[in-house]
Amino acid sequence: MTAKPYHVYITRKIPQPAIDLLEEHCTVTYNEIEDALTPEQLKAAVRDKDAILSMFYDKFTPEVLDCCNKAKIIANFAVGFENLDIPAATERGIYLSNTPGVLNIATAETAWALIFAVARNIPAMDAVCRTGKMDSWSPFGYLGQEITGKTLGVIGAGRIGSAMIRMAKGFAMPILYTAHSPKPELEQETGAIFTDLDTLLQKSDIISIHAPATPETKYLISKPQLEMMKPTAILINTARGQLINTQDLIWALENKVIAGAGIDVFENEPYVTPGLEKLSNLVMAPHIGSATYETRVNMGLTAARNIIAVLKGEMPPNCLNPEAKQK
Ligand code: NAP
Repeated sequence: MTAKPYHVYITRKIPQPAIDLLEEHCTVTYNEIEDALTPEQLKAAVRDKDAILSMFYDKFTPEVLDCCNKAKIIANFAVGFENLDIPAATERGIYLSNTPGVLNIATAETAWALIFAVARNIPAMDAVCRTGKMDSWSPFGYLGQEITGKTLGVIGAGRIGSAMIRMAKGFAMPILYTAHSPKPELEQETGAIFTDLDTLLQKSDIISIHAPATPETKYLISKPQLEMMKPTAILINTARGQLINTQDLIWALENKVIAGAGIDVFENEPYVTPGLEKLSNLVMAPHIGSATYETRVNMGLTAARNIIAVLKGEMPPNCLNPEAKQK
């Protein structure tokens, strides 16, 4: 067998089809400890590797990038890329890529799962059944909210936000959305209406966040925005924890400023901010947006294809910094 000229390092084991694809072209090693690498472990692991396949929590700071002495590409196994210092990688001639598109459905479905879980208080209803006996059936027992016909407000109408909007048609929901710019084709297809954030917050019954984590979106939803929402409103976040000020959310849920919330992402992952666990009108999931086997396979294959392209001397199909000058 001829030795493969390139060595790819994967920072956390991924589904086998992507490893098989990479192994057709390169030598592959991966983190075998089944936990996130510490910054020191990451620095040691990336040295002398031609390509890195990384997770969204691996922070590629300038210091870590300096240890990527041979890397031609860092391919994130995620659509979000706030862990990558784009200017610093560009300066060092390292391409960066992400996995857009393949996780739209899984993440939008997670948002819908949270909507219904909050609206009908499913976790608490499940807990009732597990006691072995429910209250005798009553016209006022275990009441929740109906979703069909309610107004959906979508913050960020990109790939995942658009998938969310398309699914809402099935529930006959009027749709408001906000983004940097209007999306005429999406409007034509779904009847969604572009609006400013304040109007969306005031008029929507269900608000679902699908904007990226950027300096601009940090604490996009804080006390003033929560105060604008209807007292019956349900807030869903499957984007990133930094978009909501968690202390303000706890205050809003404790004081019934809004009716409920469902969150899949947290400010300080992998930790859950203390106080959230006490809220009965909150449903939480441990960052499972893309967590279906088929989506994780496709994320792996997408990241692998980005790496293979660069090792062949081509631009990665999902390049985040085309201006990077290759080593
Ligand atoms: P995308 O296609 O880039 O869409 C982002 C949307 O946000 C765009 O419509 C953009 O507007 C809009 N936007 C940006 N800044 C905004 C602001 N300040 N106010 C309102 N809208 C703003 O991204 P995507 O693929 O849909 O992914 C969205 C995010 O979901 C990712 O960045 C990631 O953090 C998160 N995510 C989470 C999971 C999970 O496991 N929970 C899984 C996948 C993704 P324009 O189109 O006008 O520029």
